[in-house]
Amino acid sequence: MKKYMKLVAVAGISLLVAATASLQDASAALKTITAVVAKDINLGIHGAAWTPTDSSGETIYPVVIDGVSYLPVRSLAQALNTEIGWEDETRTIIIGGEQHSHASSDIDSGSHSHSSTNSAGTTPTYAPPLTALPIGDGKVSTDGPKVGYVYVAKSTFNGGGSTANADWFNGDGTYDSTKKPIVDGSVLWNSELTIKVEGDKRIFTGNKLPDHPTGNYPVARNDDAYNYDRNPNTIGEHNFRLVLPANPTAAAKPSPLPMGAIGIMTTGSVIFNAVDDMGRDAAAHEIQDKCSGHPESSKTYHYHNLSPCIDDVSTGQHSPLIGYALDGFGIYGKYGESGELLSNADLDELHGHTHVIEWDGKKVEMYHYHVTNEYPYTLGGYKGTPVKAE
Ligand SMILES: [Zn+2]
Ligand SMILES: [Zn+2]
Repeated sequence: MKKYMKLVAVAGISLLVAATASLQDASAALKTITAVVAKDINLGIHGAAWTPTDSSGETIYPVVIDGVSYLPVRSLAQALNTEIGWEDETRTIIIGGEQHSHASSDIDSGSHSHSSTNSAGTTPTYAPPLTALPIGDGKVSTDGPKVGYVYVAKSTFNGGGSTANADWFNGDGTYDSTKKPIVDGSVLWNSELTIKVEGDKRIFTGNKLPDHPTGNYPVARNDDAYNYDRNPNTIGEHNFRLVLPANPTAAAKPSPLPMGAIGIMTTGSVIFNAVDDMGRDAAAHEIQDKCSGHPESSKTYHYHNLSPCIDDVSTGQHSPLIGYALDGFGIYGKYGESGELLSNADLDELHGHTHVIEWDGKKVEMYHYHVTNEYPYTLGGYKGTPVKAE
């Protein structure tokens, strides 16, 4: 638990007051409470001042009862970018998506417990919130894979990328991914992707265009994103045929990732590694559209992290397959076997792990990669033997 204040969230002051009134009518045996509307308590979230408001924008002040501070849960959840819902039938406020066994680790982007050890003496994993993702700049390795790093063959970086300082950086080595400007537009494409298994081969044909809308590229002058990243490239069609092993196996040792495509996603578009041309955290610095994609100089639309336009919601189960790395191993979403939100600490230095997964309709124990909200987002290096992309 965070130490500085004991906080209990309630649905809102109006609900609290109404409940108190009706309870007093119902039973004289109930204890009368004294609530203080604490206008002098200041609130901060991840280092920034925060003022809770109701749906009409009116300020809601903390209420203190017997030394416990109560905050409006909807406003708090929204400030933490956590899903919140109300289930009338069971009178349940649901915070952070659906409930399942890993109670503390599945909230996509909410506040997590920072206690360093639990009663069993093990260190619980901690997935950073979307509002404070560590910036991965410099976490590039050329002499082998490391947890939290991208293993690449290239050792010198130079080139374009975003032009201005990022005001979504929190100033403490993290960035608020929810505050990044988004390239405007909703352009539809004629996406083609066919995947078929023939013997021991998985054969892909397609045009690398996404099956979801993209932003308007080049970034328009009147787009707020233009102030940060004047991506001058257009999106183009790239017909390709790719043959990967249908049942990949681990290579004798991991290999580094190339710049450019490292995998093909089920949306039809490719995924690049986590670094930009300057060797910085691409997702932290570069501006993308609402599906987290953008084109580069060869007009290839690509992602550097998980696209929100790929279905990967918390269901209490393992994420679905969302793509294939160019060594043939599967890329899955950000939830582990019990539906827990994964972080780097749950994965090996290549950003994957081994357990039973569904593979071509069969249950197979095999290695696979996962995406995470945090850098390096997708692969840390290749487990198998990569095929060169066309
Ligand atoms: Zn890029
Ligand atoms: Zn897994």
